[in-house]
Amino acid sequence: MQRLKSLGILGGTFDPIHYGHIVAAECARDACHLDRVLFVPAARPPHKDLNEVLDSQHRFEMVKMAVQDNPDFAASALELKREGLSYTVETIASYQQEFPGAKIFFIIGVDALLLINTWKDVERLATLCNFIVVTRPGYHLRHEEEPFREIPAAIWEKILLVPIPGLYISSSDIRQRVAKGQTIKYLLPPAIEEYILKNDLYTEEEAAND
Ligand code: ATP
Ligand code: MG
Repeated sequence: MQRLKSLGILGGTFDPIHYGHIVAAECARDACHLDRVLFVPAARPPHKDLNEVLDSQHRFEMVKMAVQDNPDFAASALELKREGLSYTVETIASYQQEFPGAKIFFIIGVDALLLINTWKDVERLATLCNFIVVTRPGYHLRHEEEPFREIPAAIWEKILLVPIPGLYISSSDIRQRVAKGQTIKYLLPPAIEEYILKNDLYTEEEAAND
């Protein structure tokens, strides 16, 4: 059993992982002096249609490649091994058992915070962890406006906002770029670009849709 004082968790679909995720994790680690950040790919994201998400083995492989050269980062297969949908509250409860005494920080972008009211047992989640909310271009955190107003006070009390360098990068844009044959260089680590091209990933994406 490892004794960590503080642990960051970055959940996501990581379809694929990109520099936006990596910068978010690193800035959160630095701002809150986290001992480690775990990247946790969701097996079955509750908010996404499974048919539209790449096979979890490929997504996990790319996350492992992205974190391998950083001793403060690790990839976790916890949600991939669990049956059923991936709920953050259950993930955090498992890490509490695995790392007793560690203060847990869930790292989340402002766009994902917008949806937090739809998550399972948010009030309970707020008793289990703190939240590091990282900024994301195109999204503004406005406490008094919808849908932020609906977020329970118990969550707000646990939020620390960490401004990070704005990277207008998203997995959906990367998938569309690949489908259209456009470059993805400098949007994600070179080894992952190579992995995507070598395995012919995302070529079937419905490029013209959005
Ligand atoms: P998609 O476009 O498929 O939704 P994504 O780029 O949003 O993909 P996710 O896997 O959905 O990536 O995001 C996981 C977490 O990382 C979320 O909390 C999200 O807010 C955060 N995140 C992703 N990209 C960025 C970015 N460029 N800047 C800040 N946070 C980000
Ligand atoms: Mg997203």
